Amino acid sequence: DLICTAMTTDLLQIELRKGSSSRIQEVDFNNLPFGKHFSDHMFVADFVDGQWQNLQIVPFDNFTLSPALSSLHYGQAIFEGMKAYKNEAGEVLLFRAIDNFRRMNESAARMCMATLPEEVFMGGLEALLRVDADWVPSQPGSSLYIRPYMFATDTFLGVAPSKTYKFVIFTCPVGTYYAKPPKLKVETEYIRSAPGGVGFAKCAGNYAGSLYPTLLAQQAGYDQLIWTDALTHQYIEESGTMNIMFMIDGKLVTPAVSDSILRGVTRDSIIQIAKSWGVTVEERKVSVDEVIQGIENGHLTEAFGAGTAVVVSPYSLIGYNGHDYLLPEPTDESFSRKVYHYLSDLRTGRIDDPFGWVTKV
Ligand code: PMP
Repeated sequence: DLICTAMTTDLLQIELRKGSSSRIQEVDFNNLPFGKHFSDHMFVADFVDGQWQNLQIVPFDNFTLSPALSSLHYGQAIFEGMKAYKNEAGEVLLFRAIDNFRRMNESAARMCMATLPEEVFMGGLEALLRVDADWVPSQPGSSLYIRPYMFATDTFLGVAPSKTYKFVIFTCPVGTYYAKPPKLKVETEYIRSAPGGVGFAKCAGNYAGSLYPTLLAQQAGYDQLIWTDALTHQYIEESGTMNIMFMIDGKLVTPAVSDSILRGVTRDSIIQIAKSWGVTVEERKVSVDEVIQGIENGHLTEAFGAGTAVVVSPYSLIGYNGHDYLLPEPTDESFSRKVYHYLSDLRTGRIDDPFGWVTKV
């Protein structure tokens, strides 16, 4: 009982198989947990014979997979994460999705996977958002989280780059993330990434490898980790699955990106906003000692994570070598709070976008 139509964007043909009923009535849009409710449809495309083909929008449903699927064994799997919003007129707005597209291809290249043409990623995304536009929440603080991902689909047990891949985009309406400011622990034993490694790529294995050290930190009473560099553990890299930023002497200080740090879109947005406000920005090495001393002598006034899921997450304390260093509570004058509100207004079209980041679907 599926309705079949073809959908044409400017450059590509997408087969649309719409479900005959919607699950949207089952969802309480005023109480949205993160990543649990999936919109009605998903976009899928297959890389076969050296070409992206079988572009389809179909009901969100299970895949049938071979037990020998190479991505399940050797981990050629990458993903992205970004959000869509509704403005007051009910139009769907995308925020910097083109940057997620570019990062996805950087991940693909590093993992020796097929890259995506812009029209498949962006065209598929926009077509999907048009089909499931009703799923983009309009409640303040809510948004539609978008999950594009790609995995190897060869059924072959040799360790080699797969010749076939599946690209998928599905979406989830998500609500405001109310959480207490997290307690962070500086990790000085385990690492997330290393020079020459894959830390800059959004590949699945990076997240698997971070679970165990994070669990240990949680057992010790912390919420998340601050990752340090693999060689010396003296320099700060990221926190949890976010980039990390500090306000030191009124300047925005953040570790410079490298092959061991993910190039966050939120990080870049905050840097550009800060510069446009006349705030001095320093992208450089940030040592653990500088941060601890800054907390102790009062020069460091804010420490926060930056990422799509939570946008900005101010920290309440940093644990290092068995000591906990308390951070000041954020106020309305805190940079992190101001930039959070500015970004929220920008993405929902409440203020003009001087950066050209917001696009209408
Ligand atoms: N670092 C890591 C390891 C991440 O997984 C993420 C989330 N994508 C980020 C940083 C933040 O990136 P973005 O602002 O693009 O979400």
